[in-house]
Amino acid sequence: MMASFDVVIAGAGHGGAQAAIALRQQGFAGSIAVLGEEPQLPYERPPLSKEFLAGEKAFERMLIRPEAFWAERDVAMLTGRRIEAVDAARKQVIDTAGNATGYGTLIWATGGAARRLSCPGADLAGCHMVRTVADVEALKAELPAGPRVAIVGGGYIGLETAAVLVKSGLSVTVLEAAPRLLARVAGPEISDFYLARHRAEGVDIRLGAGVVALEGAGGRVTGVRLEDGSLVPAELVVVGIGIVPAVAPLLAAGAAGAAGGVLVDEYCRTTIADVLAIGDCAAHANPFSDGAVLRLESVQNAHDMAAVVARLLVGEPKPYHAVPWFWSNQYDLRLQTVGLSLGHDARVLRGRPEDGRFSLVYLRAGRVVALDCVNMVRDYVQGKALVEKAVAPDLAALADPEVPLKSLLPG
Ligand code: FAD
Repeated sequence: MMASFDVVIAGAGHGGAQAAIALRQQGFAGSIAVLGEEPQLPYERPPLSKEFLAGEKAFERMLIRPEAFWAERDVAMLTGRRIEAVDAARKQVIDTAGNATGYGTLIWATGGAARRLSCPGADLAGCHMVRTVADVEALKAELPAGPRVAIVGGGYIGLETAAVLVKSGLSVTVLEAAPRLLARVAGPEISDFYLARHRAEGVDIRLGAGVVALEGAGGRVTGVRLEDGSLVPAELVVVGIGIVPAVAPLLAAGAAGAAGGVLVDEYCRTTIADVLAIGDCAAHANPFSDGAVLRLESVQNAHDMAAVVARLLVGEPKPYHAVPWFWSNQYDLRLQTVGLSLGHDARVLRGRPEDGRFSLVYLRAGRVVALDCVNMVRDYVQGKALVEKAVAPDLAALADPEVPLKSLLPG
């Protein structure tokens, strides 16, 4: 007989686990199953490019909840099960083994797969991704094959990986196609700051460095060929160029897509009845994005969307309305961001980057839309309210790091 659950959650990552937790917290008494492709119980992904890669955190300490928790909450945690298809008419999901599982409501929380290079040589041995614990274990096992590592992509994951690997004595080159680091997510002041720090730590950073091929010998990578014809020799390559949202089965079932993911409304409902989507794969009109439909790739977003679907399913709907936030740890630098800098038309620096502590405040039409805070926890904590309330502060006061941000709130 076909297994059936009131709620089936596709994906046992941050969003999927948190949706199950939030449902039980909200008193949901129906049956819940989580079907996840990875063999492990849900675990925290951020340490993968930080403490776990550095060997400072054991996998067991990354579990979102211990195994007993799921049994105690009567959540069927079905790991090692990849969903291949969604039959929206029969309200079933079908996994790779051909098993159908019936659902009352389906919560799609599948995140995304690490984007692969599409150039020749991308499948050579020695070329790694950083998305799953299996990816990072494979990378760690090969670190002795170094000492030269080329990292393709100067975004957060590439830079965090570079920071860990250079500290462990490897020779690290970061290849970024754009003219600056973190170009997609941060202002030039932040890019320049991280560029200087990584170079000071010994990382060779090449900007405007488009990759055309991975070169190899005997099936193993030996270097990265760049657009200008030059070769960066490397025994290991790490690719950190974003994700491809894992939404193909949902789109094939007729769900509308957007921003590379699946489109949801403010209650995380897709365009298919009784199918919700949350986390990295959910494209939505964020209340802080000035109307733009986008996907957010952060733990906070996965958690907040999980709370939204839980409330919807217990009959206490509350639309998604959370100020986005994110963090990145590199060396002794803790970057905390709040809000969305997208579409900003002015930036104000608080403090001096050369002191290793500063904040960059982003404004749109005179109002604060986001902050990037480097080792400035107080600005991060107090700045959130400026974003939430879209405050139009006095710019001289804003630029003075001695002036607490909370004093800029009206009234
Ligand atoms: P995931 O946590 O990716 O979970 C999705 C799960 O679904 C995966 O286990 C996947 O295998 C599974 N799946 C996919 N397709 C299927 C299918 N068809 N059937 C069944 N299962 C499927 N965020 C921060 O806020 N701060 C950080 O510092 C930070 N650092 C990060 C570092 C790294 C190395 C990575 C990879 C991510 C980092 N993130 C960070 C992002 C954060 O981890 C994600 O935003 C978060 O995990 C999103 O949760 P999710 O549930 O949407 O997806």
